[in-house]
Amino acid sequence: MADTSLNPFVRAQQSFKEAVETLGLESAVYEILKQPLRTFEVAVPFIRDDGTLQVFTGYRVQHNDALGPTKGGLRFHPGVNADEVKALAMWMSVKCALLGLPYGGGKGGIACDVDQLSEGEIERLSREYIRAVSLVIGPDKDIPAPDVSTNPQIMAWMVDEFSRIRGENTFGLITGKPLVIGGSRGRVEATGRGLVFATRQLATEMGIDFAKARVAVQGFGNVGSIAATIAYAMGASVLAVSDKDGGLYSASGIDIHDLLEYKRVNRGFAGYPQAEPIENRELLELPVDILFPAALENQITADNAPNIQAKIVGEGANGPTTPEADAILFDKGVMVVPDVLGNSGGVTVSYFEWVQNQTRLYWSEDEVNQRLEEYMSRAISDMHRMHERFGVTHRKAAYLVATDRLAEAMRVRGWLK
Ligand code: NAD
Repeated sequence: MADTSLNPFVRAQQSFKEAVETLGLESAVYEILKQPLRTFEVAVPFIRDDGTLQVFTGYRVQHNDALGPTKGGLRFHPGVNADEVKALAMWMSVKCALLGLPYGGGKGGIACDVDQLSEGEIERLSREYIRAVSLVIGPDKDIPAPDVSTNPQIMAWMVDEFSRIRGENTFGLITGKPLVIGGSRGRVEATGRGLVFATRQLATEMGIDFAKARVAVQGFGNVGSIAATIAYAMGASVLAVSDKDGGLYSASGIDIHDLLEYKRVNRGFAGYPQAEPIENRELLELPVDILFPAALENQITADNAPNIQAKIVGEGANGPTTPEADAILFDKGVMVVPDVLGNSGGVTVSYFEWVQNQTRLYWSEDEVNQRLEEYMSRAISDMHRMHERFGVTHRKAAYLVATDRLAEAMRVRGWLK
């Protein structure tokens, strides 16, 4: 029989089941949450540069809208399939409920390889996707955002297409837009910044002074490089960083601004003179206070979890720790900032972007960052309370907070009887 333990959809279902049982909720809560309320599979035909027509498969999944319109990214990747999109939509329900956002979880995508498409083809594909799903999305229904291989330019084409269909500018349709058409200040940095906020708060609760902490960061893209930069600015020593081509280590700490400049000029880390090369595997096992996995899923496994020396693992990536490794880290007393909290800064500032679009009142970056910290801080306290009340991991505690909120919304709306 196939091993379903790493199937994200099965994992998401199990997490909801455990949460419903732990909280002693009505079984109807699980019966509703165990699958999305709506799954749309659409054919997306578009014209290639050579004039031929090609059809890709697209998805939009709306997991649960008891708390408000659904919200979640759009992914362009060859591996996009219905189960993956459903699981990602379920995780978005957890993130939004945990952060106290007035949203349910959604997700979407197109199974395609953007590396094989020209810019013009990506634009036509993006516009066709919006036409295909235009009846089921909207600022008060379901609000997409960027995800893997989609970006602010793609969001701009999409909001333009939707606005043409509606016959009016509808900036609140989508978040992660360029600033000039209703994007939010602080949105690009939000995920890395939120990760550092959350980790710093939990470090303080553990008696670790974040300003003196030793940090290692796996992945130096949007999330990892911003987290490293902000941690460094707060006084932490970033001893190691890595990307897909390898890593760097310095026992006395890396000057992140200097490294960013080196990387910009040399298009990579290779040859950086102020640090030694290090393997990704070694980076994960360094004697540091805080480890930020901010690259890929399934990086901390039953094989390397026993060797992890960090006191806190702040998950920037989605699913970097396998369930087996999670149990090992819990037994070792390693505090894990679970991905649903650790990388929720992005959706939180997406919510702020939508609020700014709906009210037409735009905030300064300081206002955005201050509100982000408030939302993250409240979510951490709620999660920590559940952790102490039920003696479960922070990941399970995050599910308990979210499931309780979703259940309450469904109960008062009369869905459970
Ligand atoms: P990105 O593409 O900007 O960066 C990914 C980084 O990981 C790159 O530096 C890449 O070189 C590195 N990497 C790839 N393979 C690696 C390996 N084997 N070892 C070490 N490094 C490796 O992506 P991102 O936006 O920073 O996202 C990173 C993770 O965070 C993903 O899991 C993503 O789903 C999650 N996430 C991102 C956001 C966001 O707002 N960007 C929000 C929520 C979750």
